[in-house]
Amino acid sequence: MTNDLFSTPEHEIFRGTVRKFVEEELRPRAREFDEMGRIDKTLFKRMGDLGMLGLCYDPKWGGAGLDWSYTTVLFEEIARCDNAGVTMGISVHTDMATPSLHQFGSDALRQQFLVPSIAGEMVSAIAVTEPDAGSDVAGIKTRAVRDGDEWVINGSKIYITNAATADWLCLLAVTDPDAGYGGFSQILVPTDTPGFRYDLLDKIGNWGSDTGQLYFEDVRVPVAYTIGDVGRGFQQQMMQFQDERLVACVSTVASAQQLWQETREWAEQRVLFGRPLAKMQVTQFKFVEMQTQITAARELAYACVRKRVAGEDATREISMAKLFCCRVGRMVADECIQLHGGYGYMKESVAGRAFVDTRLISIGGGADETMIHYLAKMLGL
Ligand SMILES: Cc1cc2nc3c(=O)[nH]c(=O)nc-3n(C[C@H](O)[C@H](O)[C@H](O)COP(=O)(O)OP(=O)(O)OC[C@H]3O[C@@H](n4cnc5c(N)ncnc54)[C@H](O)[C@@H]3O)c2cc1C
Repeated sequence: MTNDLFSTPEHEIFRGTVRKFVEEELRPRAREFDEMGRIDKTLFKRMGDLGMLGLCYDPKWGGAGLDWSYTTVLFEEIARCDNAGVTMGISVHTDMATPSLHQFGSDALRQQFLVPSIAGEMVSAIAVTEPDAGSDVAGIKTRAVRDGDEWVINGSKIYITNAATADWLCLLAVTDPDAGYGGFSQILVPTDTPGFRYDLLDKIGNWGSDTGQLYFEDVRVPVAYTIGDVGRGFQQQMMQFQDERLVACVSTVASAQQLWQETREWAEQRVLFGRPLAKMQVTQFKFVEMQTQITAARELAYACVRKRVAGEDATREISMAKLFCCRVGRMVADECIQLHGGYGYMKESVAGRAFVDTRLISIGGGADETMIHYLAKMLGL
């Protein structure tokens, strides 16, 4: 890859480190992770030791103090691990649950939770979606009521990644039901707090990460565990979503590229009607169409990364990229399972797994329709 964003020797060294980790420690265990049905917590400690968990975070908290181009490199490589669930479990921790804590948390909270999270000694989860409110984030009902110096939390969250693994949650709760968008707060909830429990959910894909429903029954945490200001939770979560979506774009494009390559190798050795599948013109047309779409998706994602690195607001571009990259990822998975024929339908085939795994990406992290809904507003329609 030649690109001004990632062209320094430091990027190459970092890419090499992540690639080695993926090749030696993730890919050989990819099917084992599926069988576990949850992310192997020891991976976080290993990644913490390798300095991969706080790339853009302040060195004061153990971060590397780098920019988002390094996050891009990290997830371009992690996404090659042959297990979308693992990629998701890691990215939830690095770029979906911790950004608000880093940006808005008090020093005491960052010392207590961010430092061990960057070291890989603690794992986090982001708890926003509820049984009655997913796309409509402002419709959540989980309530935190103040009692002296404590929040008393009651409610439920659903489809939460790292549910069984997380040591703490970045929870979005209603703290003032009469205050509209000023009535939400982000609250850090340690998962060993009495009154908290979870049930695991049975998914059609993404088996390498655990997804659960969370229950809060009179869960008490200090008001000092509020991340940022009381009443700013909705706005902070909207900002946190931007990194979540950009990670989804980058890793989706990298997975699609990997699947394209593996399917090409399959088509080169699969012989039918006396010649390799890859030599048939209709197959070549498919590969070219896919590569064109992947390249366009990658460039759109990179345009967002450039803005992110420059510190510019990229909400519009990230919304477009989330919509486009995830659709491309799904299209590539669909074409690749078809090119694999019957073998593609086997659980062990990369194309079969990609087919079910990629179905998630246009739903989670803001569904396609949510992106379109935002874009219609941003474009003044
Ligand atoms: C495996 C998995 C892991 C997840 N991990 C997490 C996590 O870690 N943390 C977390 O908080 N959440 C997580 N989610 C939840 C995910 O973000 C939600 O599923 C998603 O936001 C959609 O919400 P919903 O499921 O309630 O669907 P709904 O909001 O009920 O949407 C139903 C349908 O309506 C469509 N729709 C939405 N808006 C509009 C509109 N304006 N006009 C027309 N149609 C519309 C949707 O696109 C969808 O097709 C996860 C989900 C899954 C499946």
